[in-house]
This record gives sequence, structure tokens and C-alpha cells, in this order.
Amino acid sequence: MIHYLSSVALLLAAAAKATQVTNNTFASRVNCACTELSQKLPDSVLVPTSANFTTETKHFWDIRSAVSPACMFFPTSADEVSEGVATLTSCNAEFAIRGGGHMNFPGANNIAGGVLMALNRLDEIVVNEEDCTVSIGPGNTWADVYGALDPYGLYTNGGRLKTIGVPGLSLIGGFHYFINKFGYTMDSMRSYDVVLGNGTQVVASATENPDLFWALKGGANNFGIVTKFVMQAYKIPQISTTIQAFDEASIEKFIEAAGEMAINSDAEVGAGSVLSISYNATTDSLSASLLGVQEGNESPPSRFAAFDAVPSISRSDNITTPAVWHSVLETPNQLWRIQFAHHTVKATATARLYEILKAWKVAVGEVSDVQGLHATFVLNTMPKSAATVAKTNAVGNVWGLEDEESLIIWQLSTGWDNESDDLRMTAWSKNFIEYHHSINQNLGVASEFVYMGDAGEFQNPYLGFPAANVEKLREVRASYDPNQVFVKLNWGGFKLSV
Ligand SMILES: Cc1cc2nc3c(=O)[nH]c(=O)nc-3n(C[C@H](O)[C@H](O)[C@H](O)COP(=O)(O)OP(=O)(O)OC[C@H]3O[C@@H](n4cnc5c(N)ncnc54)[C@H](O)[C@@H]3O)c2cc1C
Repeated sequence: MIHYLSSVALLLAAAAKATQVTNNTFASRVNCACTELSQKLPDSVLVPTSANFTTETKHFWDIRSAVSPACMFFPTSADEVSEGVATLTSCNAEFAIRGGGHMNFPGANNIAGGVLMALNRLDEIVVNEEDCTVSIGPGNTWADVYGALDPYGLYTNGGRLKTIGVPGLSLIGGFHYFINKFGYTMDSMRSYDVVLGNGTQVVASATENPDLFWALKGGANNFGIVTKFVMQAYKIPQISTTIQAFDEASIEKFIEAAGEMAINSDAEVGAGSVLSISYNATTDSLSASLLGVQEGNESPPSRFAAFDAVPSISRSDNITTPAVWHSVLETPNQLWRIQFAHHTVKATATARLYEILKAWKVAVGEVSDVQGLHATFVLNTMPKSAATVAKTNAVGNVWGLEDEESLIIWQLSTGWDNESDDLRMTAWSKNFIEYHHSINQNLGVASEFVYMGDAGEFQNPYLGFPAANVEKLREVRASYDPNQVFVKLNWGGFKLSV
């Protein structure tokens, strides 16, 4: 009898434990957060049966990111972000944060079955003409910002295309056309409003929480949720643009011109480009394009003289406003499943870059049977003057780049149609860049800098930052997120390891 009773007791204890475990599953914790958020802020939550839920699951650039969360939370104010974080942490629920949704790193900006905090509705933009700053909510794209600055003849150094989100780009660094003059996007940030993992709201600026201010300049999504960016603007009412196309016969010279421009750029006149080389599977040929932008109204823009010597197949020069230029540079969502991957070389290594390009064309042939293959080789120039800004502005940034030599990022951007090719294309990209980077290392032309905006999810950009900066980032994280909310509950994207 005693034996029987103790067995029953054991069974009851096991059942109680099972209930406890059930209540502590990923799904039950997420359910707790979705239920509480729906009760507290019913107008700010969508569930899979809500009208706009499916549309919102497509608000990502990369098809790989379009997974279905259990619920979506759309805060309308910093207070609601705080309330959301408090709810998520009290339920211990895993969540993702979405700004413009452009980062092509599955898990960075969405979470299957978890809670998606989408910042779309934090879309305020306030221009302060007097002190030449613009205060930007994280629900905005760069085209929104340039449009708001336009009536004042102002411009700022955010994204180069239209629909990229403000928050993701700003928190990872940010390449604009005029980095040679103003530095990277992060270098123009004057302050950040941040909701921390315990739900409190702080300001990070040169005078308030300066360690967090520094960490947010390139330190990504490790510290909190930014609910407002205050950014320097610049009096640039007009820009001079050049759009040029080149066929394969001119591509060696095109790469040389890119190197020349990176090396010779100074900070006198803002000027920079988007440089890409595309593979055409039908003709098995390459073609290159230059989108060049220079501040002011000198046309054609003289800072692109290096490209004048390269025979082009078409060319169009124009003078316009920043807002009009950006308004047409669409990057539509959901065109492809897509993998970025890249490494960086010294800008003097253009002959080596041309070799890599030729090898890439051959390597593209290896995957030519992949349905929907869309292969592009992108060059991002990093003139040394871009690094001078952080070295001289008394704040710096987490990249800690020296300003002694110019660099060029060589990046693969590869799209395809089917999930069944995901692993193949990721492995293909990884193998190609790592092999050629190792050759560059042996030749002494490699830089270890990796930009989160152009990287594959298998790359670790922190390895390219100075070790002392990485250590400092860890200390800042330990002091502002001691409970590791942005490690354990919000784990997606380029996270600093523990
Ligand atoms: C077509 C295309 C063009 C690009 N052009 C450029 C360019 O010209 N210059 C350049 O520098 N980069 C460029 N990029 C890279 C781009 O900067 C990154 O993809 C960036 O992450 C996009 O920002 P987002 O807000 O759209 O990203 P999201 O995918 O929404 O967010 C990126 C990461 O930041 C986190 N995050 C978002 N908002 C916040 C917040 N408020 N607080 C804390 N964390 C947050 C997200 O959780 C996610 O992990 C380009 C990318 C693409 C796909």
C-alpha cells in the first residue's frame, strides 16, 4: 500500500513538473507576451487572423526572412516600446525587432513563432533648421528622411538607395555617397533615445551616457531599442549625378577607376558611388554600372574623372535634388532569397580585384543551374578620409579604422528562387570569399574589416574591430543590459558573443 501511494505521489509530482515545463516552453512564453500585449495595447497587436498580418510578413527584403511570428507588436511611442519590453521580459518571450526590414540575415529582423516588434509606426521626422539637425523615428526609410529635409535645402549621409531603413543602417555604421567628407552615417549621429532591456528610457549623447553613445556608433543591436535618432544635416540643396554603363571589355579599367577614386578622394567635396558588376546568364557576359553622386551643381561631376577614361556604353549626367534622386532608387522587397558575402582589400589592389572578378565569373558557372540565379559583384569604396572623421571628432566609433590607406569592399550579392538551394548558395558564397580572402592575406593586400550591411550571416564583423573596442563593447553591454535581454530574448542578427 505504502509502495502504491508513493508511486501515485511520484506520478503526481511528475505531472506537476510536466505542467511547469509546458508553461515554460518557447510557445507558452510567447503566448503569454502576445496575450498580455493584446490586452494592454489592443490597437498595436496583429495576430495571424488579423487583416494585415500576411502583408506585414512580406515586409522584408529577403524572402528568407518572411517567416510567421506568433504575433506582431507595433508600438506608437517610446513609452509603448518600454511597455512592450517590460511585457516580453516578464513573460521571458523571445522576440525580433524590425526597422526597414532590409537586413538579409534570417533571424535578424523576424522570428518564426516568436514576437515581432515592428517599428513602422514610430515614423516621426522633425527638422531643426536652426541647429541643422533632424530627429528621426526608427520607422522611417532614408527616402522619408531626404524628403523631409528637402524643403530646407538640407541633406544627410544615410543610405544610398530609397527604401533601406534608418535604424538598421545607422546602428551598423552606414555607407552614403559622401563618406569621404562626412564619415559614415554613425559619425553624423548626435544622440539616440534608447529603451533598455529593463524597460527604462535613456538618452545617449556626448554628454549623457557617453559610453553607450560610442557603442551605438557601429555596435549594432546589442544594447537596446533605439526609438529616436538625432542626426546632423548638411546644407546641400543640389547634387550632380552621373549614371554610366560599361560592357565586359571595359571592366578591368572600371575596377582601376574605382581604386583611383578611392585613393584620391579627399574631404573637400562630397562624392561617391554605387559600383556593381552583373552577370548575364543568357549571354554569359558581364556588365558594370556606376551611380555617381557629387554635392553641388558642377556637371558632369569632376570627382568621377577617373571613370571618364573608361569607354562606356551609355552615360547620363544630371543636376537634381537629393530627394528626387533617392525617390527612384527602389529596392523592392521579396524579389529573391539572397545571400551577401564580402571581404575587403587595400584600394591599391585593383589588379587582384580583377583576378577575383574573373574567378567569380567562372564560379558563377558552377551554380548556373540554380533557378532564378541573380549574381552581382559589388565594390564599395572606403576612402581614407572617411575614417578621419571618427579619428578627429572626439567620439570615434566602434570600427576604430585607421585613416592611412583607402580600402575597397568586394561583395557578392547572389539571389535565387528556391528554398532547396539555400544551403548550396550559402556554401558557394562562403567558399568563394574565404578562399580569395586567404589569397589576399598571403599577398598582404587584405583588410580584416567586415561591414555588417554587406556580410553573410556566417561572417563575424567583430573580429575585424580592434580587440580593445570589442572588450569595451562587452563592458557597455554588461552595464546597460545586465540581464542580457538583447542576448537571450532578442538573439538575432550580428550579436556580440558572450
Ligand atoms: C538593397 C540594399 C541596399 C543597401 N544599401 C546600403 C547603403 O547604401 N549603405 C549602407 O550602409 N548599407 C546598405 N545596405 C545594408 C543595410 O544598411 C542593412 O541591411 C541595414 O540593416 C538595413 O536597415 P533596416 O532598418 O532596413 O534593417 P532591419 O532588417 O530592419 O534591421 C537590421 C537589424 O537592426 C535591428 N534593429 C532595427 N531597428 C532597430 C532599433 N530601432 N533598435 C535596435 N535594433 C534595431 C534589427 O533587429 C536587425 O537585427 C543595403 C542593403 C540592401 C538589402
